[in-house]
Amino acid sequence: MLALSSPSGAGKTTLAKILLMTDNNLVPSVSATTRQPRHNEYDGKDYHFLSIEQYDEMVQNQLFLEHAIVHDNFYGTPKQFVEDALAIGKDVIFDIDWQGVQQLRANVPQDLVSIFIMPPDAKELRRRLENRATDAPEIVEKRLSKAASETSHWGEYDYVLINDNTEKCSENIRAILTAERLKRRRQTGITEFVRNFNKAIF
Ligand code: 5GP
Repeated sequence: MLALSSPSGAGKTTLAKILLMTDNNLVPSVSATTRQPRHNEYDGKDYHFLSIEQYDEMVQNQLFLEHAIVHDNFYGTPKQFVEDALAIGKDVIFDIDWQGVQQLRANVPQDLVSIFIMPPDAKELRRRLENRATDAPEIVEKRLSKAASETSHWGEYDYVLINDNTEKCSENIRAILTAERLKRRRQTGITEFVRNFNKAIF
């Protein structure tokens, strides 16, 4: 489970898209949310867009792996999809905030790798949020004012990357993924491999 967090506008969605295009073993967790879709977003692809009632029902039935309120809207990670993907050996990438990462860390610490993406600087963050133009100006201001509080959680993450260059940053995430996949405890067949190797020697 690879969780990416950042203040809105740090380029995390673009980074996740690049990783998904270049890594066949990675699948995205599509979150549920009660916020309105942006004009370029599709239900089931970018988010599962739910009414508050539908969302509440999922919370009641414990169908979320984690859930949180972010920017006054409700968000959550549907549990079943993630469990099914992990069961067939896929790695799952999550675009979730620090609250979601805290919950995953508490529930499945061994399975989680977390990366915090920093925007290159505050001016650039404002420019990116304004250029997005899909959010109303007051929403942009709100997200900017939240950036500092989100960034205050950077120390809780396994890795912190500054996204001053999309290509370099995605390369670094790929390097992290490769190293984390090679960790001894994550290599499922390694014990048997070593056992057979030793048997063949003696
Ligand atoms: P946006 O509304 O701009 O797509 O996302 C706003 C924030 O909500 C982002 O920081 C994103 O990472 C976070 N977010 C999206 N989905 C989830 C989720 O399922 N759980 C949590 N905890 N945060 C989420």
